[in-house]
Amino acid sequence: MEYQRTLAGKVILEGEGIFSGKNIKVEIEPAEENTGINFIRADLPKKPVIPLNIENVIGLEGAVALTDGEHFIYLIEHLLSAFHGLQIDNAIVKVYGEEIPLFDGSAYPWVRKIQEVGYKFSLVPKKKFYLRKSFQYQNGSGKIIFKPSNTLKIKASIFFEHVLIGHQSLEIEINPRSYINEISFARTFGFKDILFERKNKGIIKGGSLSNAIILDRDKILNPEGLRIQDEFIRHKILDIIGDLFTLGHSLVAEIEAVYSNHRLHVEALKSLYKAGLLEEVESRALAFLLIYKKLKKAE
Ligand SMILES: [Zn+2]
Repeated sequence: MEYQRTLAGKVILEGEGIFSGKNIKVEIEPAEENTGINFIRADLPKKPVIPLNIENVIGLEGAVALTDGEHFIYLIEHLLSAFHGLQIDNAIVKVYGEEIPLFDGSAYPWVRKIQEVGYKFSLVPKKKFYLRKSFQYQNGSGKIIFKPSNTLKIKASIFFEHVLIGHQSLEIEINPRSYINEISFARTFGFKDILFERKNKGIIKGGSLSNAIILDRDKILNPEGLRIQDEFIRHKILDIIGDLFTLGHSLVAEIEAVYSNHRLHVEALKSLYKAGLLEEVESRALAFLLIYKKLKKAE
C-alpha cells in the first residue's frame, strides 16, 4: 500500500520573478493528510488560501496560473512538477508575491531542497486518479491522448523550426527515480527575439540566461550549453508532469502529447474532469480493483 506523503520540514527558496522582476520568497510547509496542496498569497494582508484543484487553474500559452477568481499565482508548473514527480500529496505553499520564481528554469532547485528536508508519511492511503476510458483532446496542431494504465507513462513530441531543436520525441515511465534522474533538471527554453519583444512591451521585467536556455537563430546563448542533448523534449515532459498535477492528485495513465502546450494540457484536463472520466481511487482499494479488472478480462 502507498501512504500519503508530505515534507518532513520546511523548504524556503527565494528568487527573481520573471514577470514582476521582484525578489519573491516561497515557503513550503508540511501539511496534514487529505488536505492536498494549498497555496497562500502570504504577501497580502488577508493571506488568501487558494487550494490546488483543476477548477482553480488557468492554462496560459507559456505558464499555468492558480486563482480563486480574485488573487493569482503565476508560473506554478515547475513546482507542481516537483510535487508530482516526488509524489508529495499534502503541502502548504506560502508565496510572497504573484508568481513562483523560475530559478534555473527546471524543477531541480525544488527537488534538491525537498530531498534535503526529506519526507513524512502518514498512515492514510494515497489517492490517485485513474481513467475510466480513453480520451483525446485536440486544439489546432496540438493534441493529447489519455489511455487507461496502471502506471504513469508519458510520450511527448515537439517540433520547432530551429537547427538545434527540430523534431524531438521521448517516452518515459514516471516514478520518483526516473523523474529525478531523467527529467527534473531539464530547463525551459525561449527565443531571444521573442524575449526582447516581451521585455520591450513590459510583459516581463526580469529574466536572464540564468533562468532558461535562450536560443538565437542558430545557437544557444548560455555559455554552459545544454545539460543533455535532448533537454528540450525532457522539459516538455517536466511541464506535462506539472500540469497533470493541477488535478490535485497523481493521474495514472498512458499519455501521448503532440505539439502540446500548457493551455492545451489544462483545457484537456478540465474536459476530462467535466466528462466524469476520472476515477478517484485510494491505494488500498487499488489492489482489489486491479484484480477485479484482470478477472473481468479473463471472463
Ligand atoms: Zn516549463
